[in-house]
Amino acid sequence: MRESCRRVKGRVFTCLACLLVCAFAGVSANAEPSAPRIVCRATLAEARRTELAAQLRAITGWAGLHFDGEGFLRFGSAGPAGGSQSARELLAAAEAGENLLIIEDASGSADVVFSRVLEGRWKGGSGGRPPAYVIQIDFKDFSHVMGDRAALAAFNAGWGALHEIEHAVNDSADAQRPGDSGACEAAINRMRRECGLAERAEYFYTPVPGAERGDFKTRYVRLAFTQARPSDKRRRQYWLYWDAALTGVGADAGQVASR
Ligand SMILES: [Zn+2]
Repeated sequence: MRESCRRVKGRVFTCLACLLVCAFAGVSANAEPSAPRIVCRATLAEARRTELAAQLRAITGWAGLHFDGEGFLRFGSAGPAGGSQSARELLAAAEAGENLLIIEDASGSADVVFSRVLEGRWKGGSGGRPPAYVIQIDFKDFSHVMGDRAALAAFNAGWGALHEIEHAVNDSADAQRPGDSGACEAAINRMRRECGLAERAEYFYTPVPGAERGDFKTRYVRLAFTQARPSDKRRRQYWLYWDAALTGVGADAGQVASR
């Protein structure tokens, strides 16, 4: 997500090995294509795992999707029931790829606004372990979002995780200018369509008109979603709102697009 998501090429995580060594004892760069490639850190609380897995089950239609006892995301053996084919293909591609995707709880972090992905580096060298990306999710930020129900269903930690996985797996780019949703969100919007949900109309959030005249301690912003109405083919618009003073603006402060 723009407000969050910048693929930080030059920055590294240096503490992977100490926290993950046990979980990855059986994972090598030459693992079989079916080896699990998405894992959460031990510090991701059970309630967060449950929340994230439930959201990913709803999106993928994989009723058996869950985090196993070692934190690996398992897709389950049940066939899909509804959900997004594109989301299933993205997760399957992640599992077939060589990169390890590590989900981390960044709730309360001033640097993470909703979610972002960083390149990881194994402490003491890779030692034959696979390349790693760290997907940071600020669950608290999502709890600050208000707005239309149709838009809320299309914007949660599960959608944020898929956005970051899309970056890591397909190297899709985010939008560079206002009015564009970007290649990464275009892929995520395809998933939303397949789920019958509203699509994110823009990558950039914008200040709520007139909000700057209110309480100076708040900084309300909004993000548009749209969905086609079968009745008349016109697209209906839905809005999400949040106080950017609570979620933070990350390193992109001052770059919030204005209309
Ligand atoms: Zn992004």
